[in-house]
Amino acid sequence: MKILLSAISFILAGMGSSAFAAECVSQKEMAEIASHFSQFKNLATKEYCYDGSQTANLIATVMYMRKTAFAADMKPSQDELFSGRFAQSWYQYFIGRIDEMDVQASCPKGVGAFVYGWGNTMYVCPMMLTDSFSAIDRASVFMHEARHIDGFPHITCRSGARKNLAGACDNRISDGGSYAVTVETYAQLAKYATDLHPALRAYSMATAATYAEETFEVPARVNHQDNLLLMAESRDLFLMDVQNAFRMEAQGQTPALGHLVLRGQHMILFPDDKAQTARYLFTKNAGEIAQSAGDAVVEYNSKSAAERSRLVDLHIAAQWVGKIYTDKVNLACDPRSAAATDLSFNGVTAVGILYINGYTRTADVHYVMTSTGTIYEFGCPGGRPTLRPSSVKLDQRYKRVHKVGNKVMALTFDGLLYQINGTQEAPVKTSIDGHIHEIVPHQTYQFLEMH
Ligand SMILES: [Zn+2]
Repeated sequence: MKILLSAISFILAGMGSSAFAAECVSQKEMAEIASHFSQFKNLATKEYCYDGSQTANLIATVMYMRKTAFAADMKPSQDELFSGRFAQSWYQYFIGRIDEMDVQASCPKGVGAFVYGWGNTMYVCPMMLTDSFSAIDRASVFMHEARHIDGFPHITCRSGARKNLAGACDNRISDGGSYAVTVETYAQLAKYATDLHPALRAYSMATAATYAEETFEVPARVNHQDNLLLMAESRDLFLMDVQNAFRMEAQGQTPALGHLVLRGQHMILFPDDKAQTARYLFTKNAGEIAQSAGDAVVEYNSKSAAERSRLVDLHIAAQWVGKIYTDKVNLACDPRSAAATDLSFNGVTAVGILYINGYTRTADVHYVMTSTGTIYEFGCPGGRPTLRPSSVKLDQRYKRVHKVGNKVMALTFDGLLYQINGTQEAPVKTSIDGHIHEIVPHQTYQFLEMH
């Protein structure tokens, strides 16, 4: 029998606090839940209060599927993000397929939950049940697993972000398999949940878009605009439309000045003040979620300020991670293992990653600027940890280079923006010239703006 695995940690994040923390579930609700999941029958006779345990996090997720309120009229999107076919009661869908949730003692790296090709038991990995995952993420994973019961196994993609990763893809979103459910649940939360914190809404949208882009052999069609996000020294954020006269629009403020690292369609803020922790950044003053943005960020946040300052930059690909330190690169090239390799810059000092070909999670090498002006390439070509001088040259030492749509944009150390066109560079005038602290690509989505 084929085992259907759900490999989710390649892009999913953890959140530090449950939406239901320090709350209780009424006896009536507990009796209702136990009437379907007999594993909870000894909890059916009284109110249940969350205590951070695995059981509490299972029940919180079931409650999330039972209670999350959505708009009455959920129109399909004009793209492939949301068809609405899984939008009726999530709880009814789930209990129609799953009647037992079995918590495993341990699971392979990257696996959050799984089902077999028989029976109605969902096996849940301990990683999913820590407080570093939210009920939102778990509810999406549980719905994904339930879809497998209908007979939708995964395939191994021949191309894209999950190329050759065993059973981590579906063919196309319109087939309505488990990853279609993943995309639809996050898109539904982002667009139609009536009582969702704005930061969680933004988080859900970016997660839906990342899955849509990465988990299908034929990438799902997502109507979006590629923009450049600018952070000013004043902490103001601006969205620049690079296709439309570089027009800028205010987007609220960042809570701290810092470096923005991409993780799929998510942005992670690494504050310049190294006493502060790294966390997701959302635009339009949406606020924050107490959240660990993946293993590399958890590790970073566990360190002292002095140790944090040694990390210069971070690249999070779909299947590998490169940590750029001042004197070395640490590369984890195997998506199924925690093993990592250090490669030294041999005396030169790393300055930062240059996304000359764009931030893509499929590329196996990217570029890093060093203090001497020599550009190195780093990555995992053929699965091998690699750091070597590159033949690529730029006519000045840029702080950042990003590709937005078909335009290559660069930021200088004195806060000026340029467009690079082959060997030509042209200044781009902005209202914050000389005061631009950071730039990063940032998508906006038609589905969210449509009324
Ligand atoms: Zn799956």
